[in-house]
Amino acid sequence: MTVRNDWTRDEIQALYDQPFLDLVFEAQGVHRQHFQANTIQVSTLLSIKTGKCPEDCKYCSQSARYDSKLEAEKRIAVDKVIREALSAKESGSSRFCMGAAWRNPHERDMPYVLEMVREVKALGLETCMTLGMLNQSQAERLKDAGLDYYNHNLDTSREYYSHIISTRTFDDRLDTLDHVRQAGMKVCSGGIVGLGESRNDRIGLLHELATMPVHPESVPINMLVPIEGTPLADVEKLEVTEWIRTIAVARIIMPHSYIRLSAGRESLSDSDQALAFMAGANSLFSGEKLLTTPNAGEGKDQLLFAKLGLTAEKPKPSIAELTVDAMSA
Ligand code: SF4
Repeated sequence: MTVRNDWTRDEIQALYDQPFLDLVFEAQGVHRQHFQANTIQVSTLLSIKTGKCPEDCKYCSQSARYDSKLEAEKRIAVDKVIREALSAKESGSSRFCMGAAWRNPHERDMPYVLEMVREVKALGLETCMTLGMLNQSQAERLKDAGLDYYNHNLDTSREYYSHIISTRTFDDRLDTLDHVRQAGMKVCSGGIVGLGESRNDRIGLLHELATMPVHPESVPINMLVPIEGTPLADVEKLEVTEWIRTIAVARIIMPHSYIRLSAGRESLSDSDQALAFMAGANSLFSGEKLLTTPNAGEGKDQLLFAKLGLTAEKPKPSIAELTVDAMSA
């Protein structure tokens, strides 16, 4: 199957509007053509600087503009990050994602994040960061330090975007993604469903992602976790089937991308999650927390994997492990 970057909104809508079971069946077929069945890539996400963010994303507990009762934390020490990364690797994660609640990293933060990338990479983990907007020079330095992925979500459709964020534009987001691509890193970019948007907005988000010159290698499809104190605390809950439809369409139109279950997973039943895997999701975040929101813990995930006969993609050996192997060969 050729990868297409010329999807029209009408084509995406036609996929989205199919009978639910036809859509999930088609998505699973596409999935099996491009990925090993029953294998899930597992990532761990750590907040390296929490809260007091100057941005106004209306869903976020970390924005300084809302009274979400979140306890802000300063940058955490690099050696603590390394310990967390090691424990994530031992628990079966192959990728370690580090997130900071910044509009963008300041120059004074760069040595800190670059050292962190080098050290996490040396453990044999894939590295990912989400630090807000990047300029070209920052993207290049992160790439040189060994950063594999940069996460920067589009969040929602271009049309609905201004209802959710006013402190940076949709095009600012695309500019950062462009800098990440130019620097040669892989892109992790997706969105959130359940923000009060329409189905047409979910189609618009997918259209934006699937018509990028290169599809994001990783596409998180988050389900809103409403947080008290934020403007979206009381938004009407979206039907789970709409979230599954979004996953299935993402799988069909971006067949080589990892489609990731992110925020919102902890409130879903095992059977809802199984349906999401059936619809082509093949990546998830493990651990008790996703930055600040609760997540299905590792123990729960291991049980779910055992129940469904799923296996986690293997992490790579670290540089230290490879050196020992070479010396003993
Ligand atoms: S989503 Fe990110 S940029 Fe937006 S308020 Fe939260 S931490 Fe800041």
